[in-house]
Amino acid sequence: MHQAKRAVGILGGTFDPIHFGHLRLALELYQAFDLEHIRLIPCFQPVHRKLPIASPEERLAMTKRAVATETAFKIDECEIKRKGPSYTIDTLLELRKKAPQAPFCILIGIDAFLGFTSWHRWQEILENAHLIVAHRPNYHLPQTGIVAKLIRDRLVEEATLIHQKTQGCIFLHPITSLEISATDIRKQIAMGKNARYLLPDNVYEYIKKRGTYSVSTL
Ligand code: ATP
Repeated sequence: MHQAKRAVGILGGTFDPIHFGHLRLALELYQAFDLEHIRLIPCFQPVHRKLPIASPEERLAMTKRAVATETAFKIDECEIKRKGPSYTIDTLLELRKKAPQAPFCILIGIDAFLGFTSWHRWQEILENAHLIVAHRPNYHLPQTGIVAKLIRDRLVEEATLIHQKTQGCIFLHPITSLEISATDIRKQIAMGKNARYLLPDNVYEYIKKRGTYSVSTL
């Protein structure tokens, strides 16, 4: 990463569990923007939602299984090692220290982007990284308000600029719409239904073996 000339993609998430929605988002944006690699960063403690059901170690183990054979993806354990609330800005500043000149881009689903301005120190995030917003047809961008202004001010059409600047641009890119959510997978498993084909087989096997989501705590 120290020498990275092409932008490094960062996909943070709870990954409780990781599923094909996350993996397609990462792979499609990796290819579309010719990224150096994607860093998948399971959080320790999410700050905008309920606590996860699976432990950080289990979520990390599932994430490792999911991408074991994909060389474009690297797992970054920094948030799990850091413990405490997982703020994206802290993670970015850690990465920035290691690679002061590298272009970074945060990959974010449009659902999460709509709440981006409530993220801790969000302005500083844009001082340290670009955002690539993965667009899905069922979601609409606002026409007014702070997110709309952010898009007006920072939206860039030319994808190659992601490698030339180190931070501050917003890119919008459509991805295959897979209406899969970890919440739904957890629910299905807790109800005794078969969740196969929503997530990688080796992740599903891991979940079944450990009984991770078998008892409904939703
Ligand atoms: P949960 O249902 O538990 O809230 P989730 O499935 O939404 O979880 P997260 O780990 O919270 O997954 O999401 C991490 C990132 O992946 C976010 O940026 C989110 O927008 C994106 N994402 C989640 N599901 C999808 C999907 N089906 N397609 C594209 N992006 C997704």
